[in-house]
Amino acid sequence: MTEHPAAPRLRVAPSPTGDPHVGTAYMSLFNLAFARQQGGQFILRIEDTDRARFREDSEKQVFDTLHWLGLDWDEGPDVGGPCAPYRQSERLETYKPYVERLLADGHAYHCWCSTERLAQMREVQQKTKQPTGYDRLCYGKTREERAQLPGFTPTPVVRMLIPDDVELTFEDLIRGRVSAPRPDDQVILKADGFPTYHLAVVVDDHEMGITHVVRGEEWISSTPKHILLYRWLGAEPPKWAHMPLLRNADRSKISKRKNPAARLTWFQEEGYLPEALDNFLALLAYPPAQDADGNDVEVFTFAEFSRDFDWRKVNPVGPIFDLKKLEWLNGVHIRELAVDDLASRLLPFLERDGVLPGSPSLGELARLRAVTELIQTRMALLTEATALVRPFFVADEELDIAADARAQLKDDAGEVLTAGLAALEGVDDSPRGLLGSESGWTAPAIEEALRAALVEGLGLKPRLAFGPLRTAVSGQRVSPPLFESMEILGKPSTLTRLRRLRDALG
Ligand code: GLU
Repeated sequence: MTEHPAAPRLRVAPSPTGDPHVGTAYMSLFNLAFARQQGGQFILRIEDTDRARFREDSEKQVFDTLHWLGLDWDEGPDVGGPCAPYRQSERLETYKPYVERLLADGHAYHCWCSTERLAQMREVQQKTKQPTGYDRLCYGKTREERAQLPGFTPTPVVRMLIPDDVELTFEDLIRGRVSAPRPDDQVILKADGFPTYHLAVVVDDHEMGITHVVRGEEWISSTPKHILLYRWLGAEPPKWAHMPLLRNADRSKISKRKNPAARLTWFQEEGYLPEALDNFLALLAYPPAQDADGNDVEVFTFAEFSRDFDWRKVNPVGPIFDLKKLEWLNGVHIRELAVDDLASRLLPFLERDGVLPGSPSLGELARLRAVTELIQTRMALLTEATALVRPFFVADEELDIAADARAQLKDDAGEVLTAGLAALEGVDDSPRGLLGSESGWTAPAIEEALRAALVEGLGLKPRLAFGPLRTAVSGQRVSPPLFESMEILGKPSTLTRLRRLRDALG
């Protein structure tokens, strides 16, 4: 596939070097937004030529996290496609003829310099304040000639011969005309027979018919080398879009070593929704749309983002990674989910935290649905559900009363609980309705009985009246709405819990 097809073809090309970086999702999102808008294709290619940094399970994590984010590809190592294989380590035979051709055409040469010699050379260059770069000791020499000189290794690498008139500027879809520094004689084939990124990326993008290369701004300085390779191979270069790097508030790069939030799996573990993370990553480099009143529309779906996407609107200045903003967006997206959807997304966290078993019963699921409805507006992260849901699934006698909840109980708590118990005894919970699935034990009936007894009867302020009941039922100071919680728990459980706290107070 050498001619550019009519529909654009874009790709993301992560290296499987450990837990996938959030940058991989960010790049995929922008690539995919454009590909989908244009009716083009999006390809996943695994760039695993750096064998020293290769991690076995990393590729699967890339698949899983990108699928989790809904950033799905049309061609890739797992789904195949017309340009297979999509793993660079399986394409070594593909690169070989390209290297031979570059050598034969005089655009590349063998280099036998040992790592020690290269290190010494660099040290001298730095000390004497000369520009650093390969000094071309091997250029124009046969193996025999070179072997006479010091710092020789028997297995050579292949380097590009960067011409004096190398073009150092190029057009970028986001940045306009961009200049890059003069490149060194880049190694394109390593001693282990693997191509370097620079050769492999150009050969693969060319062979896979990639029309737009969208990648991080750290690759701007490599682009002149890539453009040269396209020219030497007689191939048309793609269009370039260099995305701004994600940064911390102090402008440092987001790195997996320093930021837990650089790892894509971290967002899954912490209870972020994929919709919210996509939304957040888009906003990092893209301005929100405006509504009819000129207000920013910061909450949007991938489909909305893709529909109006325009490279010229991408902000080239490194965006600050503000997790507070993500948390806010997450809460907004949580509130937009259908209750059943939210409940099923809570399940893995509730299982992980021991609130529910791996395969809950229908009764447990029905209860979870009812509780989810109560807590949907009270969460920014899915992980926060555990504390809110747990009281509904523990046995009454195992409910822990949190120390802070107990501490804020007033002296009259026992009296309030006794009055509450008496009032609730009178609320009928016997089965009613055609299927016997309804009863008089409803939130409004519970509220009415409790208000009559505590607010009107004892003359208490509602906050003071209901605090002890809330603590008895949930064990917490803050909990889902009280009367609805009591309805879900049912009368026997509610009464047992009120009695239990009252007795514990002595
Ligand atoms: N393998 C490179 C990376 O992980 C891809 C760069 C590119 O998209 O060209 O950064």
